[in-house]
Amino acid sequence: MFTWIDILRFANNGNPTPLKRVEKTDEEWMAMLTPEQYRITRTKGTERPHSSEMCHKFEPGQYYCVCCGTLLFDAEEKFDSGTGWPSFTQPASPEAIAYHKDRGYGMYRIETVCNTCDAHLGHVFQDGPPPSGLRYCINAEALVKEASELRKATFGGGCFWCTEALFQNLEGVVKVRSGYSGGKAKHPTYREVCTGNTGHAEVIEITYNPAIITYNDLLRIHLHTHNPTTLNRQGADKGSQYRSIILYRTEDEQKEALQVIAEEQASFEDMIVTEVRPFEAFYQAEDHHQEYYNNHPDQPYCDVVIRPKIDKLKQQYGSKLKTV
Ligand SMILES: [Zn+2]
Repeated sequence: MFTWIDILRFANNGNPTPLKRVEKTDEEWMAMLTPEQYRITRTKGTERPHSSEMCHKFEPGQYYCVCCGTLLFDAEEKFDSGTGWPSFTQPASPEAIAYHKDRGYGMYRIETVCNTCDAHLGHVFQDGPPPSGLRYCINAEALVKEASELRKATFGGGCFWCTEALFQNLEGVVKVRSGYSGGKAKHPTYREVCTGNTGHAEVIEITYNPAIITYNDLLRIHLHTHNPTTLNRQGADKGSQYRSIILYRTEDEQKEALQVIAEEQASFEDMIVTEVRPFEAFYQAEDHHQEYYNNHPDQPYCDVVIRPKIDKLKQQYGSKLKTV
């Protein structure tokens, strides 16, 4: 995760090397941008707060630099700051943005610019939401949004070290995050979830491309890669945080989940006890729980519990796996 200290380091000691550079004359920028885009990005202007609808839009997608097309932010990191400017908690990559100390208006602030073309974007502050605590306050005029076809699914099937290690192998799955969902407590910690009192389950959030793998595929794979017939238990892991759960985002997903459970019931002797409930929030788990299997392949739990599950997945779903 990108932190305030990383930003200070860049602002004080020099910015990361950009992946590419784009340089144009003022005349060239003026010719390709609208007057307002030019004023903001090339002359360090600021748009009026609440002047863009972009502040209120949170659909999946990516935000690119209006001047050079570099990917700057993902909608996943966007939040409603109430300030009247689009706000993000993380950049798309550490190389995307450069940081400069800005002593304008009698304040010290950190200015953000596109690291590829030096377009002024806005500023970054330390008053954002957890976990990064950052608020990138960006002019909507400096950004172009492109909708993405990607969707999300949230499933729990016991320990998220296991489920994450399995689903990341599937073709069409672009990202898997481990976290907590299904309860009421806000921003729970691992320790709190382990007590079983938060109502949350250990879950994974799967970002996938439905053109390559469907929600239906994911549901079936989910049911067959954990034991959906043991209530509040997964192997040796006992407690409601290990329950089998599917969190749906639409009515169609709800219907599909119930349908798939009904169809797959025939392959289980005991009743499927998977909870199917509406998705409310996903809270990402602490950094050391992300990519646990990839980072600790030789740890006994990974070796004894997770690796056999991956082998089984390969046998059952070989054709759906990534080839690398
Ligand atoms: Zn740019």
